[in-house]
Amino acid sequence: MHDIVLIPGDGIGPEITASVTKILDTASADINWVETIAGETAYEKKGNPLPDEVLELIRKHKIALKGPLTTPVGTGFRSVNVALRKEFNLYANIRPAKTLPNVPGPFTYVDLVMFRENTQGLYIGEERWIGEGKQKAESIAVVTREASERIIRAAFEYAQKQGREKVTLIHKANILKMTSGLFLEVGRQLAPDYPDIKFEDLIVDNTAMQMVIHPERFDIMVTTNLFGDILSDLASGLVGGLGVTGAANIGDEYAMFEAVHGSAPDIAGKNLANPIALLFSAIMMMEHIGEQEVADRVRFAVMEVLANHKDACTRDIGGKGTTTTFTNAVCMVLEDKF
Ligand code: NAD
Repeated sequence: MHDIVLIPGDGIGPEITASVTKILDTASADINWVETIAGETAYEKKGNPLPDEVLELIRKHKIALKGPLTTPVGTGFRSVNVALRKEFNLYANIRPAKTLPNVPGPFTYVDLVMFRENTQGLYIGEERWIGEGKQKAESIAVVTREASERIIRAAFEYAQKQGREKVTLIHKANILKMTSGLFLEVGRQLAPDYPDIKFEDLIVDNTAMQMVIHPERFDIMVTTNLFGDILSDLASGLVGGLGVTGAANIGDEYAMFEAVHGSAPDIAGKNLANPIALLFSAIMMMEHIGEQEVADRVRFAVMEVLANHKDACTRDIGGKGTTTTFTNAVCMVLEDKF
C-alpha cells in the first residue's frame, strides 16, 4: 500500500482528481490517498494557500499528486507551485509529449520527453533596477556544475531505463559562454558514461525550428530552466496542447506529479474538464513508485478510449462527452480487459 498525498486543487481540480482516483482504483492501484488542500481553496479556508500541513504531509509521505492551483492574486503570496518545487528540491521537471490517437495535432509522430532543470538559471528571482527612474534592469542567471550534473544524469538514466536511443542537450553556449557553456561542458563530460545512448547538443534557436519541422528527430531532451519552460510548452503544442500533457517534478527524495494546465475557472463545475493530462501524470507517478503494471494498464485503457470511443472524450479534444463519460469509458476498458 502506497501512501500518496492528494491535493485536488482549485477550479476543475476536484473533478479531474476524482476521475483519476476512480480510474486508478479500477486499475487495482494499491494507494491510500492522504488528501489535503492548497491554493485558493486553502487561502479561503485557512488564510494561506500553502498551509504547513501540506508541507508536513509531503515531507512524511514523499510523493504527491496535485491538481491545478489558482495563485490568489493580490495577496502577496508567491506561487504555490514554485514554493513546492523549492521546498522539496524538485530539480527535474519531466514532460513527455507523445502523439495520441485521434487527438488533432500538426504532426503524426512525436514521442519526446523534455527534462528541464527546475531550480536555477534565470528563474532564481534575482532581479534589480540599476540607477534612477527604472531605466535599466538586470537579472542574474545561476548555473552550477552540481545542478547541471544531476539533471543531465537524470535524463541519461531515464533514457537507459526506458530503452530510448538519444539525448539532445539544448543550450546557447555560443553566446552565454559561462552559464550555458558550463551546462554543455557537463553534458559532454557525462555522455561517455552512457555509451549505449547517442548524445548530441543543439543551440536553442535551431532546436525551436527543428521541433516544428522534424519533431520526430527528438527523443530525450535536456536543458536549463528558461529554455525548458518555453520548449516544453512548444512540445505540448506538437501533440494537442496542455490538456493532454502530464508532468513530473522529481528530486532525490521527493516527487510531485501534476497536470501542466491551470485550474480552468471558465469550465469549473461543468463536467467538461479533460482528465487526461492529470491521468498521464498519475501514470508517471505509478512508474516512479514501481507500479509499472498499473501504469501500463491505465495507459492502454486511455489509448483504447481515444482510438475507439472518441465520442466519450471531452470536447476540448474533439469528443462529444464529459468528464464522467470519459472516466466511465476508461473504467469499462479496464474492467473488460484486466
Ligand atoms: P488554464 O490552463 O486554466 O486554461 C486555459 C484554457 O484551457 C481555458 O479555456 C480552459 O478551459 C482550458 N483548459 C485547461 N485545462 C483544461 C482541461 N483539463 N480540460 C479542458 N479544458 C481545459 O490557464 P489560465 O486560464 O491561464 O489559468 C487559470 C488559473 O490556473 C490561474 O490562476 C493560473 O495561475 C492557474 N495555473 C495553475 C497551474 C498549475 O497549478 N500547475 C498552471 C497554469 C495556470
